[in-house]
Amino acid sequence: MKTVREPARDIKVWREVDVVVVGGGPGGVSAAISAARSGAKTVLIERYGHLGGMATGGLVNIIPNLSDITGKQHIYGLTMELLNRLDKRGATSYTKKKDRGSADKKTVDSYLDANLGWFYVRKDLAGQQHVLYSAVVDPEILKTELNDMVLGAGSELLLHSWGTQVIMENNAVKGVFFESKSGRQAILGKVIIDATGDGDLFVAAGAEFDNVCDNKRRTAWLAFVWWMTNINLRKFDKFKASQPEKHKELMQELGKLGGYPFFFKGILKNQPNTVWYHSMQPQPQRTDAMDVEQLTKIDVEARRRAIITHDFMKKYMPGFEKAFIMLTAPQLGTQGGRRIIGEYTLSEKDLESDEIFEDTIAVLANNDYGDISNNHPTLCVPYRCLVPKSVDGLLVAGRAFSSADTINETFNIIPHCIAYGQAAGTAAALAVKAGIEPRKVDYKALRTNLVKQGVNLPKMEKYAPSSAKDDSTKEYYQKYH
Ligand SMILES: Cc1cc2nc3c(=O)[nH]c(=O)nc-3n(C[C@H](O)[C@H](O)[C@H](O)COP(=O)(O)OP(=O)(O)OC[C@H]3O[C@@H](n4cnc5c(N)ncnc54)[C@H](O)[C@@H]3O)c2cc1C
Repeated sequence: MKTVREPARDIKVWREVDVVVVGGGPGGVSAAISAARSGAKTVLIERYGHLGGMATGGLVNIIPNLSDITGKQHIYGLTMELLNRLDKRGATSYTKKKDRGSADKKTVDSYLDANLGWFYVRKDLAGQQHVLYSAVVDPEILKTELNDMVLGAGSELLLHSWGTQVIMENNAVKGVFFESKSGRQAILGKVIIDATGDGDLFVAAGAEFDNVCDNKRRTAWLAFVWWMTNINLRKFDKFKASQPEKHKELMQELGKLGGYPFFFKGILKNQPNTVWYHSMQPQPQRTDAMDVEQLTKIDVEARRRAIITHDFMKKYMPGFEKAFIMLTAPQLGTQGGRRIIGEYTLSEKDLESDEIFEDTIAVLANNDYGDISNNHPTLCVPYRCLVPKSVDGLLVAGRAFSSADTINETFNIIPHCIAYGQAAGTAAALAVKAGIEPRKVDYKALRTNLVKQGVNLPKMEKYAPSSAKDDSTKEYYQKYH
């Protein structure tokens, strides 16, 4: 391969701070908010002109799995703060409190009607469907709320800034180089948080990571998400119900032409008559989510197929006559990718262990593993999943947390990434205050701080040692969950 040598040059240091967060998705935003609220001088940099990552720029606006199938809520903390803020603006819709956990057929069907079954409904051991606590959010209003939350917390924010390289001293990250219209600059920090989703910084830092992903998994597929509006959904529903064969025929024809036959009915209460297309794009090779030539090809192809869909639906599908494309996601959807090898790697065995780790930073509903989920409705995530095994000065917030691909696909979603970010930001601030490496943060202090921030964690005083799986531990666990 032909190469050229880049000349060495002096780079302006734009800021020297306590915590630098790179990437402003669910993980990064919550890391910056919690680091700043915990008293650390914090900067958040984001490559695009808005915050939210996939949740806004990827048009992925469904916040599922806030509860288990009994309707018991597990996710609190910054996710709830955000949803409450959006609710005040009429910018979120969610399953009604009285419906959560319900197996009533009419209630379940009312949620399935929007084709949002996977997000809103799960089966119990007897095969009966139950409604979960899940929400959808308006991505445009979310962008502004996130700006307000980050700046309101006291963090500095730099948009349009692409983190490109790390500054290393021996084995520790001490800062980042970033590129923007102002040129190449540096930020120095005591703790750097990689919230790029793709692990751009931990790769640059030479940390060990895992990139294995079964091509059949959701996480191995890219997605081009786009929305169509001005649709008469009542007319469409009537047509589908009265002429199911004709509807099926039309959808098959669209599929043959290369269009996308499947959509979700948008259920944001402030945006009626809108549908959402999550157009999945297979990747020929697993590494393609990081290959700019492949990303370009996929974007071009997905847009072509979206226009085929648009033209066909307008011409042939009752209810779509006046439809138009309202929005295409500025950001191609990456569902999974590189994952840090951390001090602890979450794997399938954790789904059944019921272990309450001493460094638990999140309790998540375990909804997606059939019988296992029914018998073990929650999963604890340890802080060590955010701590790189081999590099200092660095934490990982978001979907690249240390996890096997078998488990990453179900525990890398938005509320989970917010929880990881909240923990990473809080831990970074504690490390700075104590003048220690993030891996040395006192677990009890971290838990206490997270609970003070409204995070749902198991009661503090009775943590099981990591090896204990005796009945009293289980009883205790069940009592508090
Ligand atoms: C099609 C699709 C459907 C999904 N469905 C759902 C769903 O229904 N519900 C759900 O909860 N989750 C869903 N997910 C998953 C969810 O979107 C992600 O898990 C979540 O957004 C991950 O958050 P994150 O902060 O780790 O990463 P991201 O959301 O990817 O955010 C990373 C941020 O970092 C920025 N960035 C990246 N590299 C750099 C860099 N070098 N310098 C500066 N900034 C950088 C990006 O621009 C982005 O803002 C879906 C994902 C996709 C793609």
